[in-house]
Amino acid sequence: MRYDPSNIFARILRGEIPNKTIYEDDYALAFHDITPQAPVHALVIPKGEFTDVHDFSLYAGAAQIAGFWQAVAATATKLGLEEKGFRAITNCKEHGGQEVPHFHVHILGGGPVGRMTGN
Ligand code: AMP
Repeated sequence: MRYDPSNIFARILRGEIPNKTIYEDDYALAFHDITPQAPVHALVIPKGEFTDVHDFSLYAGAAQIAGFWQAVAATATKLGLEEKGFRAITNCKEHGGQEVPHFHVHILGGGPVGRMTGN
């Protein structure tokens, strides 16, 4: 899949759409999900043109990958989720239920988040 620079998270990164920022560094931006599925629901996105976790894992550089996952950890810490924990998930393409084609990790927490698949 070719990266579509008009996707909503690309527009957030360009500052064209506002977001409720939690954490930001050279590698990633984290912000609150607009439709929370848990008491705390954040999204962490890399500052690079990657469509999904498969694309990111194959084509991002080592520094980008390390920086991204450290930003996930920093976001969880900033949200107070370090002690009790959280779920980090990423949806990939059609069967994974991905809606926005810019790689992102959901951080869900602030209370028990239930079974993994919801089935
Ligand atoms: P996914 O289904 O994994 O692609 O998740 C996309 C997520 O982006 C959903 O949880 C949406 O609620 C969230 N979302 C869509 N637009 C925005 C926005 N403008 N700001 C924050 N979150 C958004």
